[in-house]
Amino acid sequence: MNLELSEEQVAAKALARDFTEREVIPNAAAWDRAESVDRAIVKKLGAVGFLGLTIGEQYGGSGGDHLAYCLVTEELGRGDSSVRGIVSVSLGLVAKSIAHWGSEEQKRAWLPRLTSGEAVGCFGLTEPGVGSDAANLATRAVRDGDSYVLTGSKMFITNGTWADVVLLFARTGGPGHRGVSAFLVPTDLPGLTRREIHGKLGLRGQATAELVLDGVRIPAGAMLGPEGRGFSVAMSALAKGRMSVAAGCVGIAQACLDAAVGYAGEREQFGAPIAGRQLVQELLADIAVDVDAARMLTWRVADLIDRGLPFATESSVAKLFASEAAVRCANNALQVFGGYGYIDEYPAGKLLRDARVMTLYEGTTQIHKLLIGRALTGVSAF
Ligand code: FAD
Repeated sequence: MNLELSEEQVAAKALARDFTEREVIPNAAAWDRAESVDRAIVKKLGAVGFLGLTIGEQYGGSGGDHLAYCLVTEELGRGDSSVRGIVSVSLGLVAKSIAHWGSEEQKRAWLPRLTSGEAVGCFGLTEPGVGSDAANLATRAVRDGDSYVLTGSKMFITNGTWADVVLLFARTGGPGHRGVSAFLVPTDLPGLTRREIHGKLGLRGQATAELVLDGVRIPAGAMLGPEGRGFSVAMSALAKGRMSVAAGCVGIAQACLDAAVGYAGEREQFGAPIAGRQLVQELLADIAVDVDAARMLTWRVADLIDRGLPFATESSVAKLFASEAAVRCANNALQVFGGYGYIDEYPAGKLLRDARVMTLYEGTTQIHKLLIGRALTGVSAF
């Protein structure tokens, strides 16, 4: 691939850097302590076009390719993973799925609202009893005349209490992935209740929720994609979504590098800056190598998507490596900060807490190893 960015990509990155410096970084620590990002950020993200990247202008989108989307995601992730996650889910998992699988009516109903930030989307796949084994989900959608009636619950749903629409996966048929269908469920319907999950280790600013559906009635036209193809809707969303998580991890890793290099230059011990110590330079070098490797693997996925080539395994490789790298980088950065890394006046602790979940969601590290192993051998070891 050509590693030189186009003018549009450079401009998207510069816009995202400026936005992150102005709107995100000055507030990130306070949002983390308050366990809530200021919701006004959603409209601001919409206004600069970050919630409409890769979506066609006829639906209110701001166009652009997947590499531009990665660059913006990386910058937001450098500032605050909670804010980055709002975009990765509302745009990356929900709006992009509607753009790909939706009818014209569904696109017109939801995309302009999601891309402007007037509405927020969330992605309801995980359940209390079903995480990695998502094809075995238990939430049911029972046909009743021109409607479906939904019953079940969803766990750990990012944007859950903020969302106006859930891209919800429910069982319309028998066991296994062929019995799953996808629905666009407005969150103001009777029977749908939401509870915010507090006390998270990281991503504390993000509204993560449990959703309970107790006889929620939706028109049959709310189904996204064909009946029985819901698992394909979910997997196609996640394959691209993992690129966005990986890009967010590159942002975390870059923030670690910037913070650690800066601190090492200022902090003096034994009569000289710690930056001059070989063992400190080893920590910095290890972070720098992880940043570059994670970024290159992530850009490769964007390049494959933009060229219309298969990218699912490469997406697993990038997500697996970048998420583990983000944790390593944050841990190394914390070490450079010494005791100051352990208090939240300095950035390393939050970076480590935010990085940790990246190895868990959108496929755990183990699940990605199994996906890569299956691609290599043709044998499923799940
Ligand atoms: P489990 O699947 O129970 O896994 C537990 C452990 O067992 C893990 O280490 C796992 O790797 C391992 N394991 C499981 N199966 C195997 C196997 N076959 N071989 C080897 N090891 C295995 N979900 C959504 O649908 N939408 C969201 O927006 C969303 N946001 C989230 C936000 C946060 C902050 C968090 C924490 C989670 C979010 N999730 C979301 C859920 C997330 O995707 C799941 O937590 C994840 O898929 C893992 O599922 P689980 O937690 O049930 O763990």
